[in-house]
Amino acid sequence: MIDCNCHLVFDSLWANRVSIWQRARAAGLSSAVVSAEQVTHQRIQQLQDCEQAEVCPASGWHPLFPRPADAIAQLAQVLNQHPRWGVGEIGIDTRKLPRDGQADFLSEQLSLAQNRWTVLHAAGPGALDTAFGVARGSGNVRGMVHAFAGSIQQAKRWLDLGWYLSIGGPITWPQSRRLAKWVAYVPIDRLLLETDAPDLSATKQPGEPADLVQIAGKVAELRGIELAELQQQVTQNAYQWLDTDCAPVTAQGFK
Ligand SMILES: [Zn+2]
Repeated sequence: MIDCNCHLVFDSLWANRVSIWQRARAAGLSSAVVSAEQVTHQRIQQLQDCEQAEVCPASGWHPLFPRPADAIAQLAQVLNQHPRWGVGEIGIDTRKLPRDGQADFLSEQLSLAQNRWTVLHAAGPGALDTAFGVARGSGNVRGMVHAFAGSIQQAKRWLDLGWYLSIGGPITWPQSRRLAKWVAYVPIDRLLLETDAPDLSATKQPGEPADLVQIAGKVAELRGIELAELQQQVTQNAYQWLDTDCAPVTAQGFK
């Protein structure tokens, strides 16, 4: 399986990245999408010291992170240097910030994400619909809405747009009934799994990629299929989303 969004470069995981990745391998993970805010992308390159780690790096300006005036130019430069990298997490977050201005900035980042896989973050009142309004005009982006927490109606719109929907640790939480509805509904070939580690943990704080196994177990139960079948399907979905050209490369490749 592939953890389709985690943050191994965050301080809380970084110090223990070698043992964390060993546990992920032991749990059957082959790869992980590692999303970083642009400023820490050097750490992604250092993931090479995780033995056998295969990472698919994504870079972008998360709405909750402070950013410099030339943020778009910086991102463009990073992406130019790394044709195989994705873009993320980018998006809309209305929990602490006003919505104004976020849509324009998202639109600028999506314009850099053409023909790339992209991890979208949408949290807070109206965020998902605002993000949809931008994504609808974003051209050729292979998008995924991470930690999707919308209604079935909202899910339909994103699916019609060709995007993938991703579920993580919260599906294992007792209060996950709303999430269970779309997870049971979504066409099985458009579903991705993520841990969002260290956030949204399925088990303990901080979460880690190995937790993907519990998430897969819960989703298989909700879908009424065998765990092995689900694992095979979501792995195939992840490769499709990442595209063969952007298939995971060994971290050695980032020297
Ligand atoms: Zn997020």
